[in-house]
Amino acid sequence: MDFPKVYDVIVVGGGHAGIEAALASARMGCQTLLLTHNIETLGEMSCNPSIGGIGKGHLVREIDAMGGAMGSAADMGGIQMRTLNDSKGPAVRSTRAQIDRNLYKIAMRGKLENQKNLDIFQEAADDLILEADTVKGVVSKTGVRFFSTSVVLSAGTFLHGLIHIGLQHYQAGRMGDPASISLAEKLIEIGMPMGRLKTGTPPRIDGKTINFAECERQDGMGDKVPYFSWDQSVAHPEQVPCWITRTNPRVHEIILANLDRSPMYSGAIVGVGPRYCPSIETKIVRFKGKDSHQIFLEPEGLNTNVYYPNGVSTSLPFDVQIEMVHAMKGLENAYLMRPGYAIEYDYYDPRDLKRSFETKKISNLFFAGQINGTTGYEEAAAQGLYAGINAALRAKGLESWVPRRDEAYIGVMLDDLTTKGVSEPYRMFTSRAEYRLSLREDNADVRLTPTAHDLGLISDAQWKFFCEKQEHIAKESERLKSTWIHPTDLKEGEAIRVFGVPIEHEYSLKNLLSRPSVTYQKLMTLELADGTHVGDASPAITPDEAEQIEVGVKYAGYISRQQGEIEKNLRNETTRIPSDLDYDSVHGLSFEVREKLKEYRPETIGQASRISGVTPAAISLLIIFLSKSK
Ligand code: FAD
Repeated sequence: MDFPKVYDVIVVGGGHAGIEAALASARMGCQTLLLTHNIETLGEMSCNPSIGGIGKGHLVREIDAMGGAMGSAADMGGIQMRTLNDSKGPAVRSTRAQIDRNLYKIAMRGKLENQKNLDIFQEAADDLILEADTVKGVVSKTGVRFFSTSVVLSAGTFLHGLIHIGLQHYQAGRMGDPASISLAEKLIEIGMPMGRLKTGTPPRIDGKTINFAECERQDGMGDKVPYFSWDQSVAHPEQVPCWITRTNPRVHEIILANLDRSPMYSGAIVGVGPRYCPSIETKIVRFKGKDSHQIFLEPEGLNTNVYYPNGVSTSLPFDVQIEMVHAMKGLENAYLMRPGYAIEYDYYDPRDLKRSFETKKISNLFFAGQINGTTGYEEAAAQGLYAGINAALRAKGLESWVPRRDEAYIGVMLDDLTTKGVSEPYRMFTSRAEYRLSLREDNADVRLTPTAHDLGLISDAQWKFFCEKQEHIAKESERLKSTWIHPTDLKEGEAIRVFGVPIEHEYSLKNLLSRPSVTYQKLMTLELADGTHVGDASPAITPDEAEQIEVGVKYAGYISRQQGEIEKNLRNETTRIPSDLDYDSVHGLSFEVREKLKEYRPETIGQASRISGVTPAAISLLIIFLSKSK
């Protein structure tokens, strides 16, 4: 049958990518359908119960700055919130949350079910409706035909998913969920360039059987608990500790003695796994000289005994998993509630996507998440938000939104994926961004919230909050610049207490704040000769506002130098290259460069310059050619 309602956007798959895609499209006013296998698994975390971390936390803040759901759901489910790299520079400071899986799912489910313009339907999508090279909708497993202008596909690890435990394997999307076979076959039939990737997860342990007295305790941040979201009206749940144990030579012996039963080493797995999140067997083989690896025992929630041993992802046979876990301190009597496993799945070469994440082969079909060769909830969610925005813009007949590398980590990721493709699961790191001092967690809102407002993505409450925050920051920055302190204005001994040294002449507060040892909070406690404090005249500034003010003052020189560099590079970055450009007619290009450009068909000069092997000289030739042919 044909479903009676016709949609602007259909999103297939209610994982981290699909959720953000569906919410973004609906927020933009598009009639949106989220079609997913099982409503009960919306917001399911297939592997580690944590969100954020270096680079990934930046993506979560960007999603939040654009009205997305991940940051606030992580705040609602965060049972140990931390700021990583707290003592390092602002570019690499990142928020990370240990998550209660159930609280996270409840939060996400609430957001989805209460979103205007969004319908949710539980069924597998088995087929795409195509007219020539344009998608028109999807067909569900029971033959219902759903029609729409755009389709976002975010099927995660489910396409031709194959689980391995030891030398046994079976089809599944992840443990307990079916694989998507028909849809995967359809994509092969269309000719989507695909490959196989692999990821894995550790066994789960019953906390009642862990001897915590033998493990090292790791607590959260006391009362300095951070938030991901701008909306801090909901308190975090109770904060609980994680625990640390270690592997040892006995554990390594057990693993090495059983490698012939590992699907990774027997040749049963062909997909490439994440280099930065290797299985324990890979770590032992790769780092032969190391006789111990740290293992974090992470609670999966407040009302469950399940623990996630972070660091022992494995696909060894279950009997070997039991033996190796029992050989670790504190885990001698551990009961394994679920085996670890590896999963192989289809992914599609992201170089076959336009920069908007629309596929080059099929118009109006957008891809997001793990199927683009990435790994991680945050990478998936950020892509989902992005693809959802562009699918909605297409449905409205508007131009795509494509952030640049200097504007957002989302921009870095989309450029890396569509320009370079992947040879292993792609995850975000701050080191992937050349302008990381400009792409900080603390200024994600400054970089993206105005655009999100223009696109219709954020609530009035978020926009009001943002505008007021910027107003406070501007006012206080102005006060710091225009307020001068002379040594005689200070109470005796104050300069030594706050700055460690006397101040010898008059300084502005801004100048004093630029000193490395002075924080905004500390400066506000500076006592004047008349008994008042510097902070008495300040408007009520929140810790987040203080952070933005402080970073702006302390790193002003670096930031403006980086801005100069960005502006210089921008001149050619966005120069468009016609999609039908005849590279054979560009004189002077080497054969190799010509072939690369024909293969990748970059959309802009910036993208062309990041293709490996395309030299600056070749870029100059291209620029000259394009300017002559105008
Ligand atoms: P998923 O979260 O996989 O969601 C896909 C959704 O699509 C599901 O809801 C599914 O039911 C639905 N779906 C699929 N096909 C259809 C269809 N035909 N019709 C309707 N609905 C459909 N990430 C890390 O960062 N580190 C790790 O160590 C790690 N280990 C992992 C281990 C395992 C075993 C697995 C399965 C994943 C692991 N991941 C890891 C990856 C992480 O789970 C993904 O990066 C993330 O969940 C991807 O989000 P997604 O939205 O793209 O897909």
